[in-house]
Amino acid sequence: MEEITFRLKGVGVSQGIAIGKAFVVQKGPVSIPYYTLWSDEAIEEECQRFEEAVRLVEEDLFGIKEGLKNDLRQYASLLDAYRLMLRDRLIYDGTLSLIREKQLNALWALSLTLSKAREIFDGQDRFADRFYDIGSVIDRLMRKLSGGQEDIFSLIRERSILVTHDLSPSDAAQLPLEKVMAFVLDIGGKTSHTAIIARSLNIPAVMATEQASKKIQTGDLLIVDGTSGQVIINPSEEDIQHYIELQLRLDTYLRDIAREASLPAVTRDGFRVVVEANIELLEEIVTAKDNGADGIGLFRTEFGFMNRDDLPTEEELYQEYKQLAELMAPGEVIIRTLDVGSDKLSAWFPPLHEPNPALGLRSVRFCLRHPEIMKIQMKAILRTGAIAGNVKMMFPLISGIGEWRAVKKILREAQEELWRFRIPFDENMPIGIMVEVPSAVAIADLLAREVDFFSIGTNDLIQYALAIDRQNEHVAHLFEALHPAILRMLHFVVREGHRAGISVSLCGEMAGEPFYVPILLGLGFDKLSMNPQSIPRVKNLIRRSSKDQCEALVKEVLRKDTAEDIRGLLMETVEKQFPEEYHFFHSGFVV
Ligand code: PEP
Ligand code: MG
Repeated sequence: MEEITFRLKGVGVSQGIAIGKAFVVQKGPVSIPYYTLWSDEAIEEECQRFEEAVRLVEEDLFGIKEGLKNDLRQYASLLDAYRLMLRDRLIYDGTLSLIREKQLNALWALSLTLSKAREIFDGQDRFADRFYDIGSVIDRLMRKLSGGQEDIFSLIRERSILVTHDLSPSDAAQLPLEKVMAFVLDIGGKTSHTAIIARSLNIPAVMATEQASKKIQTGDLLIVDGTSGQVIINPSEEDIQHYIELQLRLDTYLRDIAREASLPAVTRDGFRVVVEANIELLEEIVTAKDNGADGIGLFRTEFGFMNRDDLPTEEELYQEYKQLAELMAPGEVIIRTLDVGSDKLSAWFPPLHEPNPALGLRSVRFCLRHPEIMKIQMKAILRTGAIAGNVKMMFPLISGIGEWRAVKKILREAQEELWRFRIPFDENMPIGIMVEVPSAVAIADLLAREVDFFSIGTNDLIQYALAIDRQNEHVAHLFEALHPAILRMLHFVVREGHRAGISVSLCGEMAGEPFYVPILLGLGFDKLSMNPQSIPRVKNLIRRSSKDQCEALVKEVLRKDTAEDIRGLLMETVEKQFPEEYHFFHSGFVV
């Protein structure tokens, strides 16, 4: 009987194509019993059982770390991070106190802890993948507590494409490549550590298919396109031929551009664009460097304030930033001060119940209301600058000159306090702002006189300029980077920044879309900062561009009336100038 071909669409998280048989692992959720503990002995035993399970998982993770293959050695620190997550106050102390105070069994207590973590991270898109990591560590712990099956790979007999609901980063790091040529998951996202590991292992992976583990059966023939996120089940002969050919060409293409990723990105007519990484965790520096980042253009500091229910001390922050600066030196590191509120919340953040949190007491406004928090962070950053001289400080959501001067006043106080106590710091540290509020765009000429650099945050700028909530999926289709209003704003800010002699960077998601390179180059950005995985492709396209030609394109673009017209012109240019890039990635192009 002829098999019926069907397709699933997920998110391509690791480029490449695999063709092979599926091996489906049904790893159902752990069943969680509920009971209360009636005696002090029972409570103590349950606490010990929990502590023992944590210890065993730690041992497992340590074993995985020791056994990492050479090309995954850089993930040793990641596995240490997972071990730390197990001892995270929220998870470890939180579960133990639920067992003790509420007399709950360990599995149930742990599941409540997981819900609490979910509440903290919920609705915060950028942390969805981080939560995914915490979730998978807890899943491992739950399996240990319930005595469940853990080694899913022992069941795989021949070289296959692994299909399962979910795969934890520690499982991914152990993937036996002689047995697994690609994987397809129901859940997950592009920046999760499982995805990062897939890229590092260089195997195609598709996540967030929602139903792969239900629709696919062991033995089905699959084509997995880790670039477009497409999974073809029981493909036709024609499909197979097409993908075999594509696979060969794409492999060669990606290998070639990866080889040059760490070289500077200079256009054909000699213009250097600094290409940097946006990161939020120290451990991401490895991925940033591997992908050829010239520096860290945006270090989001919220995470250091998030996975805890109290505030970090100046010393804790200093230790974190110090490692970052040392690891990245001599490349620059731009540390952005706390951008808390709205989509980025913390357990210690006062619940404000604002009707419009994106327009509320967030970011620098929150910090100005709580200068003592801002000052602690400023001092930690200033001190970090004394180590390698490569640190810059950046403030988010600046909307006017008065506000900016209020920030500078607190900064001066922070400097004076360091002076007074003779604590070394970088007295000449460059201080810049994010331009991400339309009012800041309108007065870019005034702001440019008072700052050392601009970095445009298009994620927020588009939200505020087009009145599209960046978190609201109902209006997500209207979030339009190529809107003429947005491009005019970018044009104005770059021009005014350059008139004042300061550098202008773009660090919103827009910078990481390789197809936008001709426009961003033509607008004259000095730096682009993006998710690390985009760096090799962006650098490659910069090298193959001419700044002059891009400027001519931008002149034409700025005369167009609609985003559709602009996209049409841009895609024509990309297809003509970068036919391979267009060919391989066009299907995954999302604007
Ligand atoms: C932005 O708004 O574009 C930006 C880079 O900052 P965040 O996404 O952290 O708000
Ligand atoms: Mg922002």
